[in-house]
Amino acid sequence: MAVKEIIRMGHPTLRKIAEPYPIEDIGSEAFNVLIEDMRETLHEAGGIGLAAPQINVSRQVAVIEIPDSGTRYGEVETWPFTVFVNPRITVIQPEPAGYWEGCLSIPGMMGYVERPQHIKIDYLDQNGHNTSQEITGFLATVVQHEFDHLQGKLYIDRISDLTLFSFDEEYRTFVEAPQNETSED
Ligand code: ZN
Repeated sequence: MAVKEIIRMGHPTLRKIAEPYPIEDIGSEAFNVLIEDMRETLHEAGGIGLAAPQINVSRQVAVIEIPDSGTRYGEVETWPFTVFVNPRITVIQPEPAGYWEGCLSIPGMMGYVERPQHIKIDYLDQNGHNTSQEITGFLATVVQHEFDHLQGKLYIDRISDLTLFSFDEEYRTFVEAPQNETSED
């Protein structure tokens, strides 16, 4: 197991549709090593989600973990470490909500993206069990961001207003800070 290099925007693997993970290989030594590598890489990077293509493995595997210690996204719901193999999304309510997103493959940037906020996901879990789950709110955005990576998509593809695309520092200064000021009123 090891912390892997996270590849960045411009690397062609990030733009490829990842191959489905072979179901019969779930639980194999190679699978377990991949999951542990993804977990360690996610923790090292301090992110909340990672897709296999981001460590240059073009397979449909993603992990999400939202710790209760807080994230750069502020106070959000927590989520235990979860593995998603060959996931599919069904939109239940197309009405979108917008959040500022960042990506470990696009370091130092944030962008405002609107996505459907009520979805159903179907995937195989870490043990190869078929799992179905309805998800709403910020978690729905996190899931769609990660699963997009498996289809060769990045969040920047979904920014509809490019004036809402910013460096981290400017985001904190001009977007986040003014919001915090008003919330104290
Ligand atoms: Zn990402």
